[in-house]
Amino acid sequence: MLIVMERGASEEQIRTVTERVLALGLRPHPIPGAERMAIGITGNHGPLDPAEFEILPGVQQAIRVTKPYKLVSREVKANDTVVEVGPVPVGGKRLVVIAGPCAVESEAQTLAIARQVAEAGADLFRAGAFKPRTSPYSFQGLGLQGLKILERVRRETGLPIVTEAVDEESMEMVEDHADAVQIGARNMQNFSLLKRAGKSRLPVFLKRGMSATLDEFLMAAEYIVSEGNYRVFLCERGVRTFADHTRNTLDLAIVPAVKHLSHLPILVDPSHGTGRREKVVPLARAAVAVGADGIMVEVHNDPGKALSDGPQSILPGQFADLMRDLRALAGLVGREHG
Ligand code: PEP
Ligand code: MN
Repeated sequence: MLIVMERGASEEQIRTVTERVLALGLRPHPIPGAERMAIGITGNHGPLDPAEFEILPGVQQAIRVTKPYKLVSREVKANDTVVEVGPVPVGGKRLVVIAGPCAVESEAQTLAIARQVAEAGADLFRAGAFKPRTSPYSFQGLGLQGLKILERVRRETGLPIVTEAVDEESMEMVEDHADAVQIGARNMQNFSLLKRAGKSRLPVFLKRGMSATLDEFLMAAEYIVSEGNYRVFLCERGVRTFADHTRNTLDLAIVPAVKHLSHLPILVDPSHGTGRREKVVPLARAAVAVGADGIMVEVHNDPGKALSDGPQSILPGQFADLMRDLRALAGLVGREHG
């Protein structure tokens, strides 16, 4: 249910509505709009009666939300959400570029790459300190030591840090050291982790599961938002198909589909989406053309020696060229960068 307040409704009228919602054992979610305040209601297991709220002073209308995801849907909030990561806005007119290696491998490697991507115009730095690897024998990440290296990157380059948490323990550590927490494809339906992320003070970068439908993806985001953390931005990173010319099949069609149904920003990750260096730049351009709010791309200064995802990491020089392409493309699709 969505309660739409009258234009100019008083604080007291808004408080009366939220108290009524709480008294019913439900959860109110204030959604400020340009013209009027709305209050989303979650926690009900059956339909609510609109009349019960429409009699309250200052209420213009109570609307049933037909979609299974409520708070992330455009039915509840028509305007695009902009999520601030440190001082960087994600969503809105300006494209955002997240760049960095797959993993923090050492201080020297991470700082060298960070300086190069910062110089080329990246907005946020990424690198995993906790790596969810397919094999238990693969490099699992440097953990806390990696997070401390990432803090040094922020100090030296000014770039805010996005890094993955794989469980509740790593979530706590990431919260102490980073600017946004990533939930990876393998954890997109880890519901206890999603609920924990919903209680985090950090924005959440939620990647699509490798076989998740659009509804499942948005429901995963709803798990986070329903716990009170409204700062979620999404990422398409490719899905499993029969195709074997790429690691995953990058589903760019989900970008306009998400934009139609949800107000949340959506980025595209052409690195995991293709798995092959030579395909990353063309698909990054395509992501911007199709209306993504930005890209996340893996960059490594010595990909042959990378401890994870070397074959899909582009070189710093390729990244700098890509940034030039994106600036040119941005203007064609009503965006800007730089
Ligand atoms: C990553 O971003 O390095 C990563 C592990 O991505 P995904 O969860 O999409 O596989
Ligand atoms: Mn990776």
